[in-house]
Amino acid sequence: MNIHEISYVIVNRNVKSAVFVYKHYNVNTEMPIKLKDLFIICESIEKIIQWCISIGLILDLTGEVCKKCSHGHFGLRKDSSFSNDIFYWKCSNKKCSKKVSIRNGSWFQGHNLSLEKILFITYFWIYKIDQEFVKHELSICNQTIVDWYNYCREVCIEILKIDSEKIGGDSVIVEIDESKFGKRKYHKGRQVEGQWVFGGIERDSKKSFFATVENRTKETLLKLIKDNIKPGTTIISDCWKAYNCLGSEGFEHLKVNHSVNCVDPETGAHTNTIESTWRALKKSLPKYGTVKSLYDTYFSQYCVRKKYIIGSEDPFIAFITLIKKVYNPEKQKQTLITTENITISEPQPATKKPRVLHEIKNTLNSSLDDFQA
Ligand SMILES: [Zn+2]
Repeated sequence: MNIHEISYVIVNRNVKSAVFVYKHYNVNTEMPIKLKDLFIICESIEKIIQWCISIGLILDLTGEVCKKCSHGHFGLRKDSSFSNDIFYWKCSNKKCSKKVSIRNGSWFQGHNLSLEKILFITYFWIYKIDQEFVKHELSICNQTIVDWYNYCREVCIEILKIDSEKIGGDSVIVEIDESKFGKRKYHKGRQVEGQWVFGGIERDSKKSFFATVENRTKETLLKLIKDNIKPGTTIISDCWKAYNCLGSEGFEHLKVNHSVNCVDPETGAHTNTIESTWRALKKSLPKYGTVKSLYDTYFSQYCVRKKYIIGSEDPFIAFITLIKKVYNPEKQKQTLITTENITISEPQPATKKPRVLHEIKNTLNSSLDDFQA
């Protein structure tokens, strides 16, 4: 069966409520997915839905018993008046008629942007395609592309939280340091205040964490150190006074006095690893328009690309796997089926507010394989 031979089963002799038999409808793509493959996937809404179901991005409710009425079964129905998606899940029991949006519980939920455009944006984000180009190609407004690129970075933050672990341990060396980001001088001597960032990195494994901080006091930094580094770790830092307490807080502490030398002649201590990491991180930030409050999302983007995406067999699928860890439609299956009320997800305009994070947590935690500048 080719893509133009879509089968519909006419239910109740009503063409509008036809059940779409998507199972006959194969979308085969080779790995890794190229842009031409994405165009094939997006040739029709039927193909998009089929493909999204096949990779678990959209929930498959086919044949699931409706728990609202206990004897109807869900099937995919077509009704172009329903929403832009045209298709939705509907209980087969005429008296029940429970409807569920195909977007529920998924990466697509709560937005009125078409599935096609969301897939393309996600693909373009993976390959770091310039926002101006994406805006032009998809005919979307500036706010939409800014929002969606932010949503992609928020997935990174959530993934680092899910996979977070303390770094260090007995006789493991962790270098810590603070660095100021985003300090830029303009003409007429105007100076923009930068953002202090604190971080630590395991010298051998390159496992690391980064956090924006409002100040560099002992209280602020010690809390982050205790939250992110295991007791017994050998911590190497510069001579910033806030670190003086580390020796009495359960850590081995070595200091490098940078005003004298880069490597302590007696202990051999140095902080070259964290310093090259700062250079790499600063290089990874957008040149212009970096919003201070989004620094954490850029750091997590950097960490997630390094850890999960670069070098994977298919970067697009690798990121979709991460998306499904955060927006897992399977988890919501029972809720969707049993909810008493009709759960049609009304399309919502993209919000400026992050969807996942009501508050962006500062601390990021990651294991990096290659973190050198
Ligand atoms: Zn029902």
